[in-house]
This record gives sequence, structure tokens and C-alpha cells, in this order.
Amino acid sequence: MTILSYIEDIEKDEPIKLNQEEITELLNTKKQDVIRLMKLASDRQDKDHITYSKNVFIPLTEVCRNSCGYCTFKKESDDPNTILLKDTEEIIKELKFSQVYGCKEALITFGEQADDDEIVLKTLNEKGFENTTDYLYDLCEDILNKTNLLPHSNCGVLPYKKLKKLKEVNVSMGMMIENSSPRLMETIAHKNSPGKNPKLRLETVANAGKLNIPYTTGILVGIGENKKEISNSLLDIRHLQDKYGHIQEIIIQNFKTKPGTPMESCNEPTLLDMIQTVSVAKLLFDDVSIQVPPNLNYHTNQIFLLCGADDWGGVSPLTKDYVNPDDKWPQISELKKFSMESGFKLKERLAIYDKFINEEYLNQKLLSKTETLRKQLE
Ligand code: SF4
Repeated sequence: MTILSYIEDIEKDEPIKLNQEEITELLNTKKQDVIRLMKLASDRQDKDHITYSKNVFIPLTEVCRNSCGYCTFKKESDDPNTILLKDTEEIIKELKFSQVYGCKEALITFGEQADDDEIVLKTLNEKGFENTTDYLYDLCEDILNKTNLLPHSNCGVLPYKKLKKLKEVNVSMGMMIENSSPRLMETIAHKNSPGKNPKLRLETVANAGKLNIPYTTGILVGIGENKKEISNSLLDIRHLQDKYGHIQEIIIQNFKTKPGTPMESCNEPTLLDMIQTVSVAKLLFDDVSIQVPPNLNYHTNQIFLLCGADDWGGVSPLTKDYVNPDDKWPQISELKKFSMESGFKLKERLAIYDKFINEEYLNQKLLSKTETLRKQLE
């Protein structure tokens, strides 16, 4: 019996348990079996809609302790054009303006442990803060008190204590694990990025689980990993989800070459690689949403809706994607068209998925604000 036939015999509402060899076999599916794989994944996506969150992208600082081989976000702190620390008042002004466009998520993204850098630390100290976590906490409090948006912070690797503090003012948080293979720490992708150590990243996702923080994570496909390493990465996330149940969304992101980066001439993953990975992710995670960034797959994104993807991620009517500035986000009207042509409705969601909007995951202040916004979407 092949692994596909085995899965075909499993009832749709039964979870599929697969080991590393079986997942690797599925990731190598060929010929007409690819269609069978896609159908199995599509059958597990039983919603009639594809979701998205209307957000504003806030690059809090462009300084980062890592230097990933594919990154164009990170800037040097001595470059006068670098955002060292975006001003809170300026952010609040932007967010208030975004309310006119119906934005409900403040997506705060920044380089990891920027306060290791002397210039950033000095800037923080001048503003009266000891580290970026304290600055972020203060910003999120302001966002909650002065705007109608919900903070979602992507901080990178953080220890338990800092996550615990930030949980008080964030409805959800996120960080890609990228890939859980330590081998990649020796390659062009991550050899200069201590924060991409998979042990640290998996520990951060686990700590978020211990703290009941609704969490978005994911993998980056095509950075030099092999299919076995993709299998292990998905299994590592599955293991954390089984243990804590806090993962709301998994992003399957394709590596894109960017001129001027060390990996500018590396191969990108093929469309087939992505179809196989998205399909397998859906089979393993029918309790979690699957997102494939639509800006990185402008002409091919509909195929992923047909093999299990059910979310477009955060889409901003206002700000550019600072992480992938060359890949423009489709307009919301385009996402509606892409969804409808594929047989789905387009539905707005919040930064926190509905099943986490309760006292187990949110304190009273966050809960009441979130519930007010959720009512607006009904
Ligand atoms: S990809 Fe992220 S972690 Fe890596 S260097 Fe860029 S900002 Fe830092």
C-alpha cells in the first residue's frame, strides 16, 4: 500500500499521523500522484472562504543581530537612512490614519535583538528605555489605548520572561522557524545568523505555547534545505502544536532571490516544490490555517488555494512590505477576485484567530477590545 492510498483510507475528520520517511515520500510525489496529493489536501480544507487581516506594517527598527543570506530588510546602524527606532508618536499617527481604511492589526516587525547594537541602545536610553522589549511594550500599550488596532509583534527569538511581558499587550505573536535543521547554520543562508539557530527558535515557539500566546510560525522553502529537513521542520512544529495547541497559522514561504544579497544567484524553489509542501502541510495541520504569501506568488497563488492554503495573511491598504519591498501585495479587490475564481469567498479576520478569542489566551483588556472588533466583522 502506498502512503497516498493509506491517507485516502483515513476519514476526513481523523487527524493524519505521518512519520519523517512518509512525509519525505509525499514531498517527492511525482506525475499523476501530485494531483492525488493535492486532492487529499484540498479535501481537508473544508472552509468556504479564504481569510486575510487588514494590517499596517510597522518596521520598528531595521537593525538586526543576524545577517541572513537572503535578507534585504536589515540595515547597518551607522547608515543615516536606517530606521534605528521608529518614533511612537509617528506610529500612532499612522495607525489613526489607517483606521479610515478599516485596518485592525498593527503588525510590528523588527530585526532581532537590535539592542545588542551600541547605537540602538544609546537611542533607546535617550528615550528612557533599557531595551527594545520595554520600548515595544510601551508602544503596544499606546496602540491599545489610543487606536482601534490590535498589536501583533514579530520579535524573533525571545526568552520566556520577555514573551510573558509582551503577551500582556499583544493579541498574538509570530516568528518563522525557517527550517529546523542545524546544518543550515553552516550554509550561506544562516552562517552569520546566531538567532537562526533552530534550537533557540523552537524554544521560543515552545515558550509561547507555555504562555498561551496565539502564535504564527512557518518555514522558508528553498534556502538550501533538502526534503528530509522540510519533513523534520514540519514535524517539529506539529510536535509543539500537539503539546500546546497555540499555533494559529503556518506560513509556507518560498525563498525569492534578491539582487545584492549573498544568495542572489541561488535557485528558487519550483512551483512543484511549493505545491508538494503546501499540500503536505495541510495534511499534517488540519487544525491550523495555512498561508502562502500572495505577494511572493502573484501569478501562481490560486493553485495553493486548491491544495489547502486558506489564508492570505496580513494585507495592508497603506504600507509597503518592508521585508519583500520588490514584491507588491495584491490589492484587497484582487484577493477577492483570486478567491472567488477559485471557488471561495474572501473574509476578513483579526490578528488573532477566532478560536483563541477567550480568557484562556487574552487578558480582560485585550479580550474586550478584540470582541468589539470581531463584532464589526460579523
Ligand atoms: S531575515 Fe530577519 S533575522 Fe535575518 S537578517 Fe534579515 S531581519 Fe535579521
